[in-house]
Amino acid sequence: MRSPVTCDAWNQFLQYVKTRCSATAFGNWLAPINVIEFSSDSITLEVPNIFVKEYVLSNYKKDLCAFLPVNTDGEPAIEFVITAPAKAAAPAISVPLVAKTEEEDGLTFNDVKLNQNYRFETFIEGPTNQFVKSAAIGVAARPGQSYNPLFIHGGVGLGKTHILHSIGHHIMQNQKKLRVQCITTEAFINDLVDSLRNKSVDRMKRFYRSDVDVLLVDDIQFLQNRLNFEEEFCNTFETLINQNKQIVITSDKPPAQLKLSERMIARMEWGLVAHVGIPELETRVAIIQHKAQQKGLKIPSNVAFFIAEHIYNNVRQLEGAINRLSAHSRLLDLNITEELVERTLKEMLQHAPKQKISVEQILKSVAAVFQVRISDLKGATRTKEVALPRQVAMYLACKLIKESLQMIGAYFGRTHSTLLHACKNIEKRVMNDEMLRRQISMVERNIHA
Ligand code: ADP
Ligand code: MG
Repeated sequence: MRSPVTCDAWNQFLQYVKTRCSATAFGNWLAPINVIEFSSDSITLEVPNIFVKEYVLSNYKKDLCAFLPVNTDGEPAIEFVITAPAKAAAPAISVPLVAKTEEEDGLTFNDVKLNQNYRFETFIEGPTNQFVKSAAIGVAARPGQSYNPLFIHGGVGLGKTHILHSIGHHIMQNQKKLRVQCITTEAFINDLVDSLRNKSVDRMKRFYRSDVDVLLVDDIQFLQNRLNFEEEFCNTFETLINQNKQIVITSDKPPAQLKLSERMIARMEWGLVAHVGIPELETRVAIIQHKAQQKGLKIPSNVAFFIAEHIYNNVRQLEGAINRLSAHSRLLDLNITEELVERTLKEMLQHAPKQKISVEQILKSVAAVFQVRISDLKGATRTKEVALPRQVAMYLACKLIKESLQMIGAYFGRTHSTLLHACKNIEKRVMNDEMLRRQISMVERNIHA
């Protein structure tokens, strides 16, 4: 048996990662590791179990390479030894462990407190999430009897956790006897490691396999590349399903795209796989209005549309936008207008709002392409050389500028019926006049350039 040695490089590594992970993670994963031997080209680490090795390698490989010896393949040159069981009772630990507060009998494991706002009633439904919502309601109404497991997948910020917690709330309200356990995959792994360290793994297994009626698992993708945890999870999973206990899982990818064992993937595909899609425009507007209302904020519908058009693939971002807008309008006591939105949400808007095109820009471009003077276009001259380009300018103004015909007409000093006449005339002519068509598209390109 070898005793730990002090290694500066390892201590520097610890210092570095300590600032980058939670105290619990640090205490659970990194603190129990001892350096047994090191040289300039390798280091031997003693770990309490294989999970710690796996954890360190899968989370900190890059940092390990930065601080510790690296072998010729660019991999950290680490040899791992597992603490001998006899020694495990009193391992020499150099950094204090995070205190555990679990009571012996009332043993509970990390569960997620359900978010009070994540309920079916507050989940706005549209064509892309209707299916998943009704599947979730079905599961919540008859846990273990409709779809088992229910597997929910979709992109970030589209409401997976919201639906998962909604199921939890619904069951807890309506079937008080059922024991609901909601966990993140991360927490499950942490619990497992804790129990391995405290030698309470049997108790954990017992808990998950007989004290839980509904298991809600968030973000299963974190189980990828965690071979040993995966097996434990899979066993728990099968035991629960065999007892008709409900399982709901969320993931950022469909089962088949997860890097998990075939066994695990097959299990997850047993029940119903439901996709949460990006809500389309109308639903996004409804979500904005709903969230604004919750905050007591009045958002005019043109502004809601404007935001929904520009933030389109993440509902969490929509919420962020509303919060920011709400803060700005309150602090500065401003009305919520498109202009305020453009100003306060500039970096959040997904494509910069289209530049407003002015009549001036159109005139300038028409004048350049048709070789006439701007003042002539605005003037009263009716010669053929000017009349046609002038009509083109009016036509483009109507097409490209979202203003009333009166407003645009006023700009040209023409009535709105003159404007309409110009538009119709040009529309008719471009059908047969290739040359004119080209000139017009050149004008348009010039405007946008
Ligand atoms: P995910 O878990 O898919 O990353 P979340 O469930 O955390 O997403 O959702 C992000 C935020 O967006 C949450 O605050 C949630 O309430 C909200 N949200 C997402 N979809 C909807 C929806 N359809 N209706 C109302 N709120 C939604
Ligand atoms: Mg989530």
